[in-house]
Amino acid sequence: MEAALPRKIIHIDMDCFYAAIEERENPALRGKPLAVGGSQRRGVLTTANYEARKYGCRSAMPVFKALELCPQLILVPVRFDLYRAESNRIRAIFGRFTDLIEPLSLDEAYLDVSHLKTRGAAIAREIRAQIREETGLTASAGIAENKLIAKIASDWNKPDGQYEVTKDQSAEFMATLPVGRLWGVGRKMREKLSPLGVETCADLQKIDRLELAKRFGKWGLELWELSRGIDHSPVRPNRIRKSLSSENTFSENILTLDALIPPLRAMVEGLAEDLAFSHSDRVIRSLVVKLKFSDFERTTAERAHSTLEPAIFEELAAEAWRRGNNRPVRLIGAGVRFGDPQESQQMEFFTEVD
Ligand SMILES: [Mg+2]
Repeated sequence: MEAALPRKIIHIDMDCFYAAIEERENPALRGKPLAVGGSQRRGVLTTANYEARKYGCRSAMPVFKALELCPQLILVPVRFDLYRAESNRIRAIFGRFTDLIEPLSLDEAYLDVSHLKTRGAAIAREIRAQIREETGLTASAGIAENKLIAKIASDWNKPDGQYEVTKDQSAEFMATLPVGRLWGVGRKMREKLSPLGVETCADLQKIDRLELAKRFGKWGLELWELSRGIDHSPVRPNRIRKSLSSENTFSENILTLDALIPPLRAMVEGLAEDLAFSHSDRVIRSLVVKLKFSDFERTTAERAHSTLEPAIFEELAAEAWRRGNNRPVRLIGAGVRFGDPQESQQMEFFTEVD
């Protein structure tokens, strides 16, 4: 049997997409610190341009904080119709090269170009050139054998640059990265890894596979692979996220409904930031609160609603709590379910990058 051909994956990430479009539309904004967003969505920035980033302004930052850092910051309202239209133009450019396109948001996508004879780096250069020529916007690209590395590499020569990591370079490329750059490694996981002396992927690479499996189960085996840059996940065309949520496992079980509320509020704030950061083009269909009780039984309370309303999350938490009959709670989850893009398209709220 013939060995499978090595894959060629490109991750394309537009540079400050929304802000770059606004600058293109109004050249007077060029070279000035600019942020998009702020008037809606509870006052956080959606995107900041590079001038604003020099002052420390970032996506998902509250407006008041951004203005403290940079009083001359220019704020413009988001115009999703315009960004979606640009996203569709860019998506059409991708389509000249491959059908295997997995959009992550309006300004980011994975492309599988394994079927093309041309080198991945040359394809990426051509795609970026066509984007620039046809939209006046710049993109950055990462080229690698898999999605994991391609995504990290697209940050390497940003803005308006690209970086290729060959299969042989994968483990070495990963070695210098902090473990937090790996999928699924958040603050909690970092806290578990830190006592083992693990700060970078190189540290993780030194730990025995069996040891990781013993400590973290199946997830440990995944860590072993990810830290070496091994990732077999396919590029999935039209993958669309159905929900966004976060969970919080308490170090000690929570005994009262009142005690659940502060952590819940913090989670809803985090959700608001995540939504503004990477899913601001989606339509929210319902809000969800999940509780897991001390006996590991779980319950989910859900209500149809289209905005992130903290009071509704609290009502849902109360509803779920009542079902527990005063059982202590070991985990709380809060999230949103997104509307079906097809249904949204009919309603003309939203069109997926397509
Ligand atoms: Mg981007």
